[in-house]
Amino acid sequence: MNKPYCKILISSCFLGNKVRYDGQAKVINHPVIALWQQQNRLVPVCPEVSGGLSVPRSPAEIQGETGKVLTCDGKDVTRAFLQGAEHALAVCRNHNIQFALLKESSPSCGSQLIYDGTFSGRKINGQGVCSQVLSANGIAVYSEVSIEKLIAVIAHQDSLT
Ligand code: SF4
Repeated sequence: MNKPYCKILISSCFLGNKVRYDGQAKVINHPVIALWQQQNRLVPVCPEVSGGLSVPRSPAEIQGETGKVLTCDGKDVTRAFLQGAEHALAVCRNHNIQFALLKESSPSCGSQLIYDGTFSGRKINGQGVCSQVLSANGIAVYSEVSIEKLIAVIAHQDSLT
């Protein structure tokens, strides 16, 4: 019987799926990804697509402390972002997932940085909507920037099973 590896939620665009606002993927280039795929650990989600947004779509940014998410053409997409975040949380609960590897700086997936809401390319400290919801519910969120920390945590988890 195969060892029951703990699962990891992962941004779908990291795995080559063309789900980003611009219709592209954002493949993560790290050898551990192939290993984790082989171990059947990775559960992909794109919160924006599962929240009902299309591909491609207008870029959106969180508007300061209001928490609202607006597209660059002024459409309020907050509800779709929240629905996508809730869907990601439900996926975590279904798979008993405690760890997520999400794309940094995305208004959904960013865990340390987000764009500042002015569509000027400036980043500020903050979390995307999905990342906020997952963190608030006890899921530890990592990004491509902090992947080495996640690798260490997963190795530790494996040593306990
Ligand atoms: S919402 Fe997350 S998974 Fe979807 S395209 Fe953006 S960064 Fe990737």
